[in-house]
Amino acid sequence: MTDLWTKARTRLGDRISPDLFETWFAPTALDGIKDGTLVIRVPSGFHREWMSMHYKDIALESCRAVLEEAGEPGLVPDQLRFIVDTSLALPATETPTPLPARGTRPPSTPPEVSGLLANEASLRPDLNPKYTFESFVVGSSNQLAHAVSVAAATHPGKRYNPLFLCGDVGLGKTHLVNAIGQKILEQNPSARILYVSAERFTNDFISAIRNHQMEQFRATYRESCDVLLMDDFQFLAKRESTMEEFFHTFNALHHLDKQIVVTSDVYPEHLDGMEARIVSRFQSGMVADIQAPDVDTRVAILEKKAEVEGITLEEGVANFLALTVKSNVRELEGTLLRLAVHAELLGRRMDLELARQAMRASMPRVDTAASVEDIQKAVCEYYSLRLVDLKSKRRHRAISFPRMLAMYLCRQHLGTSYPELGDRFGGKDHTTVIHAIRKISGLVEEHDVTVEGPISAIERKLGF
Ligand code: ADP
Ligand code: MG
Repeated sequence: MTDLWTKARTRLGDRISPDLFETWFAPTALDGIKDGTLVIRVPSGFHREWMSMHYKDIALESCRAVLEEAGEPGLVPDQLRFIVDTSLALPATETPTPLPARGTRPPSTPPEVSGLLANEASLRPDLNPKYTFESFVVGSSNQLAHAVSVAAATHPGKRYNPLFLCGDVGLGKTHLVNAIGQKILEQNPSARILYVSAERFTNDFISAIRNHQMEQFRATYRESCDVLLMDDFQFLAKRESTMEEFFHTFNALHHLDKQIVVTSDVYPEHLDGMEARIVSRFQSGMVADIQAPDVDTRVAILEKKAEVEGITLEEGVANFLALTVKSNVRELEGTLLRLAVHAELLGRRMDLELARQAMRASMPRVDTAASVEDIQKAVCEYYSLRLVDLKSKRRHRAISFPRMLAMYLCRQHLGTSYPELGDRFGGKDHTTVIHAIRKISGLVEEHDVTVEGPISAIERKLGF
């Protein structure tokens, strides 16, 4: 029985690519067969959803085939269910492979086109060697973005093209897009990778027009480029002529199956002032978002960072910092580094006591403001609900009322936009959000007890 899943997976190995297999099937285990239902354990809720959506049929089929061949028709399941077992959580990252030294690749652009544009950006991608997949910590908040980035890097231009990575500042977009570039170079050192910010693209474009160098500009961005990695794409919004140029660049590259990856701090459809045809190009590709990491991931990130920087984390320090700094990874890392410097200056060990003292002193600098998630969690706690229910489409009042209240609190305290609230509450329409907030506001104005008590309790809990 234990090798049923091993055998079934071996069969699947022929049907899906090794990287997808590694991502989705490697960290899973057979739980058993109960009443004709095959139960497979997977490491997270997200993993379960993804597997159910994409691999349920082939997994079941494969197990059935193994059992039928083994002459066990009585055992053959007719259904499959995935359950979460967090102890299967993520495997160690791959062993790092040394990167080719930066700048040692021969110039891939003919000298005649290397005008102002080709010099830096195209010949030697300015990739940050620290930002690799090996140094990226995977958790449920970034698992999809990580998986599709690895897949795009392994098969550039094949799957997930274009790839659109979005998330708030400091959550790892630049890190991932650099990791993609590095991984591609690792596999194919002659790949011509163009890593630019949208701002850089804009400046290049403007100076090309001014200096009558559009030929060179196009040669750089279209002909001499195998992979276009564009960071902070939102910068292009409202810049009409640059957008137009980007659109043609995009089409030229995409037509030749060249991989395109862009990062942005908002979803394509929320890029105000972005042309509809560009938005729809991205929507037709892969859009993966990155959320703020949960506390366990924050601890793992701190540990990784400390290891890389040669900082010794004493007992409890990582946990303390992870609980204190919630806003984003950049702030989290910054706090760790500041603390290390602080300890060194004082000639003290960086232990919990020192961390506490330092954080108390620098509290105002640390962004401990609540997030949408904090509010959602506090509301769930108050009403003893699960977060999934709060974000579900269920209309039962026991769920819909807390949901409306949570939306109201987010709007009130964080000023979150209606469309974003819609997204954060499981993909609701913004009109639903508006309606919910109006309804609760109305009750608050009437001093209705069904809202007053809960709101003040939840606000107190969150320190508002
Ligand atoms: P963004 O581009 O989304 O604003 P960055 O990629 O610049 O964010 O990330 C900010 C910092 O946090 C970087 O130093 C990056 O290495 C680090 N970081 C973000 N996410 C992770 C992660 N999952 N694992 C390790 N480091 C991370
Ligand atoms: Mg960035």
